[in-house]
Amino acid sequence: MNNAHGTPGRTSGRAQPRPAHNHGTANHGAHEHKLLAALDLEDKVRLLTGADNWRTCPLPAIGLRPMVMSDGPAGVRGQTMDERNPSASLPCPSALGATWDPGLVGELAFALGTEARSKGVDVLLAPTINVMRTPLGGRGFESFGEDPVLIARVAVAYVDGLRRAGVAAAAKHYVGNDSETERWTYDARIAEHVLRELYLVPFEACVREADLDLVMTGYNMVNGLTMTEHAHLLSAILKDEWGFQGVALSDWHAARTTVATAVAGLDLAMPGPAGPWGGQLTAAVRAGEVSEDDVDAKVLRILRLARRVGALGANGNASGAAAISATVNGGPALANPALLRRCAAAAFTLLRNEAGVLPLDPAAIRNIALTGPNAVTPVTQGGGSATVPPVSVSTPASALTKALAGLARVTVRPGCVTWSNVPEPEPAALRDPDTGEPGVRLDFRSEEGELAGTEHRTATMFTWWDGLPAGIGWGGRGTIVLRARYQARHRGPHLIGAGGVGQLTLTVDGTQVAAGHPGVPADPVEVMVRPGEIRATVDLAEGQEVEVAISLLPEDWPQGPVGIRLGIVPAPDGDALLREAVEAARSADAAIVVVGSGPATESEGFDRPGLSLPGDQDELVRRVAAVNDRTIVVVNAGMPVLMPWADQVAAIGYCWLPGQAMGDALADVLLGQAEPGGRLPVTIPVAEADCPVLHSVPEQGRLEYAEGLLIGYRGYDQADRTPRFAFGHGLGYTTWEYLSAVADWTAVGPAGDVGLTVTIRNTGSRRGREVVQAYVEPVAAEAGRPVRTLAAFAAATADPGEAAEVRLVVPARAFARYDEAARAWVWPPGEFAVRIGRSSADLRLSVRVNSLFF
Ligand code: BGC
Repeated sequence: MNNAHGTPGRTSGRAQPRPAHNHGTANHGAHEHKLLAALDLEDKVRLLTGADNWRTCPLPAIGLRPMVMSDGPAGVRGQTMDERNPSASLPCPSALGATWDPGLVGELAFALGTEARSKGVDVLLAPTINVMRTPLGGRGFESFGEDPVLIARVAVAYVDGLRRAGVAAAAKHYVGNDSETERWTYDARIAEHVLRELYLVPFEACVREADLDLVMTGYNMVNGLTMTEHAHLLSAILKDEWGFQGVALSDWHAARTTVATAVAGLDLAMPGPAGPWGGQLTAAVRAGEVSEDDVDAKVLRILRLARRVGALGANGNASGAAAISATVNGGPALANPALLRRCAAAAFTLLRNEAGVLPLDPAAIRNIALTGPNAVTPVTQGGGSATVPPVSVSTPASALTKALAGLARVTVRPGCVTWSNVPEPEPAALRDPDTGEPGVRLDFRSEEGELAGTEHRTATMFTWWDGLPAGIGWGGRGTIVLRARYQARHRGPHLIGAGGVGQLTLTVDGTQVAAGHPGVPADPVEVMVRPGEIRATVDLAEGQEVEVAISLLPEDWPQGPVGIRLGIVPAPDGDALLREAVEAARSADAAIVVVGSGPATESEGFDRPGLSLPGDQDELVRRVAAVNDRTIVVVNAGMPVLMPWADQVAAIGYCWLPGQAMGDALADVLLGQAEPGGRLPVTIPVAEADCPVLHSVPEQGRLEYAEGLLIGYRGYDQADRTPRFAFGHGLGYTTWEYLSAVADWTAVGPAGDVGLTVTIRNTGSRRGREVVQAYVEPVAAEAGRPVRTLAAFAAATADPGEAAEVRLVVPARAFARYDEAARAWVWPPGEFAVRIGRSSADLRLSVRVNSLFF
């Protein structure tokens, strides 16, 4: 069973001729033109700004309904963040990158698109196809990897899968939006050839190969121009050169001017109804500062999108997308849990497996120590707009205990804590004071104290971007009160945290125990991840029940959400936690240590301060490994972490941020029910100083991409530096021999791709899947250019002893470079090695080819 994936640029990749007129009139249906002709300027302009946070403007006169947008990319949240409308929680995008399996990603994206349709969502604000430039990037977990070819292959499959389900993808964030520090303003200084050869590649592939529907422009600037005003990138390259037919929409609140954005090629400003366009844009057109043709071009693009998602009604051509809106028993068609579990296992990346300690043989173990904070409270998704309220989460503790029931005893000991906000209590520990049901009560009160609404809820953290009763939030003086009865399971001091943005009061059994304003976070999304918090410590007896209440007067914060959060936890004793974990490990047949990010380590809105595991996790691993030589470390993180103990443990696997199926998928892999299918989409360093790009802190607003093309493995190779684990590395449960590689022809140029047939053999004792990777390496190395770059990959599955042929297509673009002076892709003459193997550092075969054309 083979499949092959080349790099983008199946066409020659040379610049396409520019259309004669302004950007954007190509290929719109006659019907859209007819509708356009019926609109006056006001109506046209109205269509160019959102109706609210998530919807576009309807125009019933032409049969246009609003189009609904929702975040993405690791699930589809819908228009509210609400545990009563949960979503399937998918493996994070770096996990999808780790599958190196566009076919599987396409299948998952189709399921995601089906769920989106069933929730009435037309546009998913996904995929994120920025590049993991630095491992510190807060949103790195939202990207598919550090290599543009890997990102492009996965992204095209993702966009295709959504489209097949009738959902439009908004690939984001165009472009150079690769880190979070000063994300609203920084100026990424990127050479044109670096843009072309690296950061633009995934966008180009989605446009040329997947007929992408929307591109979301970032907040940042590139080379001195803010992205919503970047005519060169938005019009000249995206629309004119690549032929993008879709809608260029702004990231939320990223459009900040009227004329500059309108003439540069932005089509849709989100959210609305306020924004820099509206009446100001109409006036600018009347004043001759923006041509009406430009406005028309935007409207045509929006109407085309509407047609494609089925938002043009009876008068329009509502074919295609509108037909698909599956629901299950009237509820949303959530992505299948078995598929989520399969994907999480396919992403699990086995990095080290000494003496074949994995898979564990359930028949040969009696006693397992399961330690690490993430065994009990895993981090299944990253923070920020990518977060969804999951249907349910299988934790490693619950899943492994269940999977080994009757076979082995599983002793669970977290070992340490990594939280910064007081953790939310287990739902079972809380009761609604009014009804006695499990959960909490939310009261919405007017400024005068009158009840404006009340709700029973089962979550303990709430964020509203809109939709609160009038007079509460965004300048209103009304309050939100969260009340719950909490029952202590253990005797002793308990920490209670009240989180939110605004004036907070915390009471226990009617007595105020804390009050204050914890401050406004630097970035609005922090409210969802690490809101400021006031705290109190109270002593509770075992079984004691208390009524806890938090009252919040929200901050007047125009672009920020309203959030309120309750945390309660028995005050932790760090020494005891560590001691108990080590004791459990000492007598166990094997020790599984699930370490990783804390609840607020990886998020939109801020970068990570460093690559070390938070809290005492390194110490925990060292101590467990010292008493148990079958220590298996599972890293639950979306991005690289340092592993100073790597040589002291028997096995290391990366499970990424695997979504709701985490525990079940982990049990499948550790117990050998599933093969760990992942390969690293990002290089893991030995030390921070080894990273080609470490920090992402702009200097005077400027972020110099001074490393040029040398990010990730390209940087390690150039510096001849050995990483901890190389890009592309991943072991699986069998072994492979690389037998031969044959190229279809050995002369390359702009006109043709190079087909390769690679033969491999499964030399182990289990059926397995191998990801064969091809890297192009100019024989004469050149300063400033990568030693080698990934050009193609393909997978084969084979039984023990069986040989498999893998077909790869190395596209012509892999031998080209972008010539800034000529403003074109060029194919310099020279000799190349196409090197084939299991990772960027484990290359087993090589084929020589010559570039003869230029
Ligand atoms: C994020 C986008 C997201 C949008 C809507 C922005 O802050 O950068 O990725 O789609 O908000 O939530």
